[in-house]
Amino acid sequence: METREAEASTSVVYLDYNATAPLRPEALAAMLPILQGVGNSSSPHALGQRAARAVDIARRQLADLIGCSPGEIIFTSGATEANNLALGATAGRGGQMVTGATEHPAVLEAARAVSASSGAGLTILPVDSAGRIDLPTLSSALRRGPVSVVSVMAANNETGVLSDLSEVIELAHQAGALVHTDATQMVGRLSIDLSDLGVDLLSLSAHKFGGPQGVGALFIRRGISLPYTPLLIGGGQEKGWRAGTLNVAGVVGMGAAAASAATELTAEVARTAALRNRLEASLLAKIPGSRVNGDRKHRLPGVTSITFPGAPADALISSMPDVAVSDGSACSSGAPGPSHVLLAMGLSYADAESTLRFSLGYATTNEHIDYAIAATVGAVQRVQTALHVPSAPA
Ligand code: PMP
Repeated sequence: METREAEASTSVVYLDYNATAPLRPEALAAMLPILQGVGNSSSPHALGQRAARAVDIARRQLADLIGCSPGEIIFTSGATEANNLALGATAGRGGQMVTGATEHPAVLEAARAVSASSGAGLTILPVDSAGRIDLPTLSSALRRGPVSVVSVMAANNETGVLSDLSEVIELAHQAGALVHTDATQMVGRLSIDLSDLGVDLLSLSAHKFGGPQGVGALFIRRGISLPYTPLLIGGGQEKGWRAGTLNVAGVVGMGAAAASAATELTAEVARTAALRNRLEASLLAKIPGSRVNGDRKHRLPGVTSITFPGAPADALISSMPDVAVSDGSACSSGAPGPSHVLLAMGLSYADAESTLRFSLGYATTNEHIDYAIAATVGAVQRVQTALHVPSAPA
């Protein structure tokens, strides 16, 4: 609560949770004694064993959030590493790899690199205008020959659009392929139950649900056999999957954030969806010509991607410095050109470059939304006027 109030009182309204979420107070409280103390979780003495017990608790907290068993979790430095590990490991089964055009670069680029180094073929599935994977193209890729892995994200980081994972899993498993999902944007924001959802591997990152940056995990379903080569070779930690001294404070912060997110999940889904819907409805009503991108029914509760034709996102962002929003994915914002996600959904270059992503989360308040609506309306009017865009009929 303290952080919630402190955050609300700062001068910037933060609506960029898909880039990173503020650290939850529970995560900070759990991490502080670890940072102030000492102990390598692999050491046999009492301090090491205390660190190991803290790691065990965190593994259980994370497992409870996603419905798996603690032994199925490998801690990593984040979702980027988890995705690289998952794709490298599954490619070792032989056969081609299949993924989607709107994946995060941590999957798309990793898949391209693994395909280039292993010689495995790579199929990149198109999406429809709502941002959802084209299932007939998946079926025909699966019919063309053995597929090692189908990697489809649970929720898109730019639009919040949810994949039809159950369908993907059914088709892939019928063809003998494993399924990996990059669930970085879904974990802690919508319920995921791995005891029910049959994915074989799942990646996540703590800082998207209020844990610290630089720590994440890969879930690997018990019983699947992977002829893997670890990315990091050394002391054999994490059952040999990922060598290196564990980031105990990070892992403990992730566990505490997972427990806090799990407690509030149902109420938070409803609360953030209501705030997002109000933001979206007001902007659409007040800004003629504005449009929401992606499937509005199958979406994360706290995300909206809106195109404001004739108002480039970079100009909008500089015109409202006290509201933190994104022009797409923060991770690829260094890359030239408009968002590959919006282009894959059929937007023109100009529209893709005139799109803002608003992403809300656990500390977003009604006041933040009021402020963001007024600031965005003002910024769009200023930018369109400066660029002499005629107002579209309302
Ligand atoms: N996948 C998705 C969908 C993401 O949104 C992100 C972070 N933007 C990542 C992977 C990478 O996460 P990290 O930078 O924490 O490794």
